[in-house]
Amino acid sequence: MCEVHILLSRALSIMGPVPFFLQESAEGRRMLEFRRSLPAYKEKEAILSTILRNQVVIISGQTGCGKTTQLPQFILECEIESLQGAACNIICTQPRRISAISVSERVALERGEKLGESVGYKVRLEGIKGRETRLLFCTTGILLRRLIADRKLKDVTHIIVDEIHERGMNEDFLLIVLKDLLPRRPEMKLILMSATLDAELFSSYFNGAAIIKIPGFTHPVRTCFLEDILELSGYRLTPDNQIDDYGQERIWKMNKQAPRKRKSQIASVVEDSLREADFKDYNPQTRESLSCWNPDCMGFNFIEYILCHICEDERPGAVLVFMIGWDDISALKEKLLLHPVLGDQSRVLLLICHGSMASSEQRLIFEEPEGVRKIVLATNIAETSITINDIVFVLDCGKEKESSYDALNNTPCLLPTWISKVSAQQRRGRAGRVQPGECYHLYPRCVYDAFAEYQLPEILRTPLQSLCLQIKSLKLGPISEFLSRALQSPEILAVQNAIEYLKIIGAFDDNENLTLLGHYLTMFPMEPKLGKMLILGAIFNCLDPILTVTASLSVRDPFLAPLDQKDVAAAAKSQFSHDYSDHLALVRAYDGWKDAEIDLAGQEYCWANFLSSQSMKAIDALRMEFLSLLKDIGIVDSNPTNCNAWSYDVHLIRAVIFYGLYPGICSIVHKEKSFSLKTMEDGKVHLHLNSVNARESKIPYPWLVFNEKIKVNSVFLRDSTAVSDSVVLLFGGKISKDGDGQLKMLGGYLEFLMKPPVAEMFQSIRRKLDDIIQSK
Ligand code: ADP
Ligand code: MG
Repeated sequence: MCEVHILLSRALSIMGPVPFFLQESAEGRRMLEFRRSLPAYKEKEAILSTILRNQVVIISGQTGCGKTTQLPQFILECEIESLQGAACNIICTQPRRISAISVSERVALERGEKLGESVGYKVRLEGIKGRETRLLFCTTGILLRRLIADRKLKDVTHIIVDEIHERGMNEDFLLIVLKDLLPRRPEMKLILMSATLDAELFSSYFNGAAIIKIPGFTHPVRTCFLEDILELSGYRLTPDNQIDDYGQERIWKMNKQAPRKRKSQIASVVEDSLREADFKDYNPQTRESLSCWNPDCMGFNFIEYILCHICEDERPGAVLVFMIGWDDISALKEKLLLHPVLGDQSRVLLLICHGSMASSEQRLIFEEPEGVRKIVLATNIAETSITINDIVFVLDCGKEKESSYDALNNTPCLLPTWISKVSAQQRRGRAGRVQPGECYHLYPRCVYDAFAEYQLPEILRTPLQSLCLQIKSLKLGPISEFLSRALQSPEILAVQNAIEYLKIIGAFDDNENLTLLGHYLTMFPMEPKLGKMLILGAIFNCLDPILTVTASLSVRDPFLAPLDQKDVAAAAKSQFSHDYSDHLALVRAYDGWKDAEIDLAGQEYCWANFLSSQSMKAIDALRMEFLSLLKDIGIVDSNPTNCNAWSYDVHLIRAVIFYGLYPGICSIVHKEKSFSLKTMEDGKVHLHLNSVNARESKIPYPWLVFNEKIKVNSVFLRDSTAVSDSVVLLFGGKISKDGDGQLKMLGGYLEFLMKPPVAEMFQSIRRKLDDIIQSK
């Protein structure tokens, strides 16, 4: 059927007047031509007929072939063509919010519509969806939450789960749920999309589901590993990773013009970067470099050198640099901006591509500027989720930040680790999309050879608390049994740790059933401990500061620490420091920003205090979202008067923070002029340098409660708040409902109150407790 007919029937079946006819405008024709040039388009009929005949279909094809943007549209158009458009309801999940937003925008554009017409999106905090929306791009988390309310996904006709090759925890979890749901919804279709060729694994999981492989095409990519880059410069890497300059003389002889000075410069930057990257420490068994990670250790000089070479000597084309994470991306950007060539904005457009960028920033990445060299500094998000068309050069640092979980010590870790072979190939492939490209892997081939084939699935390397809560709230049966049906099941110890944690915080009873608190926690789109803290903030009438704390802990740390101004930034942060608490510092910083915003001076306030105004805005938006959630659930009245009655009481706020974060505590071992810290599981731990407590020589409290501990060589605590014995003893209580259906907290150690000596804070908390118990 021709496109005009499709559009007409779409108009008839969905929304009346058609916004514009694609093929009648030059822009529309260009777009249609572009769509038709994509490899996926050539498989359109095969894909649609396979979906018609099968309930589950797996589609794999090279990144950029048109899976994400085209496939959902094929289904939508096909439904419209058969005049079922009004009845169809397609959901396409994305692992990250940035891709859900950018893909929905792109698809709406391709259809000549505005977002919110037939195409929409929904991610946490944001969404555009209208009554006529039939194709919704959302994060996988959003679909999982929808399942809680609508377990059979009644109105959904097609579910497309994208990027399944990434093996994210939410996606693996969703697949178990959908596998169970399919027999009960025989008319619903499930389409799984994957960039790499592990389609058989998913097919056999879904009992031999149909597979379609979209043939791809990429231009050849010249690949250089570290030794090749050196060789080009007249150096050689010896087997023990030393630099040998034997080739220099040969090259000088061959090419007399080659300026000697330049070569020696290369030698020194390469030597520096080798020393920094510490390849000698590389351990092929654990895939970890033993060197302590810090963003300076990325061989920045080396990257700068190669970028400069590309900008000065190479043909046109954009450059994509794969870095580890936000820290090193922003540090490298700062460094490059100071460079005479790379920092010259009339010649170079320096952009960042990172998962937490605002959507307006993302659009710039796709633009193809004329007359300037576009350089995009990206995380692994640009490997498969986002395709930037005009990339010709790729630099690959070979590392990514991978969350992992040490089940034995019950400690989450966030370590830069070497990527997998598949990731390295993906990165390389990004260079050959439009024309022959070049890829510089900034590590030796022997390191590449030792990479694992695939990355370990997330479900095997992260704590499982939220997952266990979700399993219970969806009534999916015993946790271990349910998880045994996963594509790859997590370790028993990891499952036990999660269940134990949920029992300690009071979300599960002794029989692993959801308690009242657990039931509430499943309604919060955040870590269980933060949900619990919010509920406590409401019960104890100190909601405002607790909203700030929970919102702040859900976004990127708003306190900035630029590498070259660490001390000034730390001094700025210490102004907000209050009574040995990072969490109270967050509250103060936010309150100050909010005041400044009234005078429209929020931005200046952020600059003056080394705060990220983006994080501040995100905190502000999250606070409102959390508050309306508390109202929806009925924990806070729709017109709250009382819930801030004690918001000025620092002791109480501190106790609520403690109870939310419990059992994340460590004891402070005081010495004469210093102190050390210990947790039960890890022994000695350290404070993160950005913590206000790291600047103290003495903390007059026996305990610290922390939000997060992270293993990076040794174990570091991020944000912490000091608390007294009495708080630790008192807040072992449980949350329950009284006869009137009101929530309240019963102290588990109230009898302790009777015994002397009673600390001053203990008294203050007791008064409040009594107050609450009597008033509710
Ligand atoms: P896949 O999912 O197979 O990796 P996509 O459907 O995401 O591929 O992309 C198909 C093509 O559309 C790619 O060439 C990509 O560059 C282009 N494209 C996708 N999103 C955008 C965008 N926001 N702006 C411009 N081009 C885009
Ligand atoms: Mg895709």
